[in-house]
Amino acid sequence: MDDKRQGLTFAPAAGSGVNTKSNDFMSNRTLTMIKPDAMKKGYAGAILDMIIKGGFRIVALKQIQLSAEKAAEFYAVHKERPFYGELVEFMSSGPIIAAILEKENAVADFRALIGATDPAKAEKGTIRKLYASSVGENAVHGSDSDANAKIEADFFFSSLERF
Ligand code: GDP
Repeated sequence: MDDKRQGLTFAPAAGSGVNTKSNDFMSNRTLTMIKPDAMKKGYAGAILDMIIKGGFRIVALKQIQLSAEKAAEFYAVHKERPFYGELVEFMSSGPIIAAILEKENAVADFRALIGATDPAKAEKGTIRKLYASSVGENAVHGSDSDANAKIEADFFFSSLERF
């Protein structure tokens, strides 16, 4: 991911009261999505169970279906990649669950819990190894940096939806 993603940032006015904990966010929160493939196959409950048993606290959670426009915006960083159209189509093909997760070292620990992008290369016991079917339809998203975790959390959730 690169700084192009910064274009998505919702920047609250200073003193607006939004994201007053933004400094805390930087190393202890991440954003996940349970993707349409896992939702359709009925894996959402099992995946949430692994997340909670993995020591992550759910700060915010919602079920939502992205429009193609919103999916394109979320993944704009990949727009030059050959799979971008396929990715946008897939991510808007059905409901997802989006959640903000909290844990010390959240981004790295969650990436370890989900495993490699390609489930064939994911370690045994990871969410993608257990529940993903291909590099495209890979069951879950996890932010790849603290900066993107904040941007992605702001994409889905207002301050009133975080606990
Ligand atoms: P991630 O950070 O592990 O999710 O991986 P990336 O940031 O590299 O890619 C973002 C998402 O794009 C992945 O999770 C996949 O859903 C999708 N993706 C990545 N590579 C491919 C590919 O080769 N083909 C397709 N169809 N989708 C891909």
